[in-house]
Amino acid sequence: MSNTQKFTTDDIKQAVEDIKKIKPEYASMLELYEKIFSAQESSKNELKLDDFIIPADRLKLKIDEQFPLLTIQEFKYDSAEASKLFNEICSILIAGDNELSSTVEKITKLTVEKKIDVEKLFSSFISEDESAFDDIEKEHEIDKQVLAFIVFNSLKPSFSVFSRNVAVNMEKAGVWEKGYCPVCGSSPEISLFEENGKRFMVCGFCGHKWPSKRIYCPFCENSDHETLRYIEIEGEEEHRADVCEKCKMYIKTTDVKKTTRLVYPPLEYQATPYIDLMIEELGYTGGNTKK
Ligand SMILES: [Zn+2]
Ligand SMILES: [Zn+2]
Repeated sequence: MSNTQKFTTDDIKQAVEDIKKIKPEYASMLELYEKIFSAQESSKNELKLDDFIIPADRLKLKIDEQFPLLTIQEFKYDSAEASKLFNEICSILIAGDNELSSTVEKITKLTVEKKIDVEKLFSSFISEDESAFDDIEKEHEIDKQVLAFIVFNSLKPSFSVFSRNVAVNMEKAGVWEKGYCPVCGSSPEISLFEENGKRFMVCGFCGHKWPSKRIYCPFCENSDHETLRYIEIEGEEEHRADVCEKCKMYIKTTDVKKTTRLVYPPLEYQATPYIDLMIEELGYTGGNTKK
């Protein structure tokens, strides 16, 4: 299994600079993500996470049966550090002065007034219980999608560090041949082609990266080359969309060999919303549901 690469805030800065050159029209959105991703990478260095030991027999069984190692509920997170990051992301979004800013200002005010309990939202998020988000939406007229976006991004450093710690156990445990993440069971958000034509999937929830078959749909396990194809994006060598005619789903793919930039997978995903629009218009659905 492949380890998740570590990125510094300088790496993120460089990655954003480089992608801004090819996508100048997204400069302000990319700058916003640069701040969020940098805050997340810095936060990773501050995390205090409990150890999680998986007994060897359980590990073997999971891999043999191709079950993900953990459920989302089993993920550990650093609540204090995530709360700090929550405030930081709110400040970034308010300063970004876009259509989200007024909602985020309201969220900040309610948090200060203790009408929103951020730690409670973290535990609701991880137990996949939407009711706490629904209540806030109803009571305070806050778009719960915006709130969930901030909560998820505040927890993401914990999820990816925890996932990395857990994944170390799997390195010699066997081959993973499924389309969902071996650590958490979520769908991949993006796929990558690397040197020697090797393909990888990157989890949209915990960031784990795993090797995959080249011709393969991660959503329905189709590996029939007749019904799998990719759609090229006009004027672009680096990005494409891999579509499946069987389940009508698609995944965005970055061909890392064709880039001279540093590739930070979450940025590749966020910097290419036009691909989603184009492919969805052709009747395909994105498989990354945890966003
Ligand atoms: Zn995962
Ligand atoms: Zn499919």
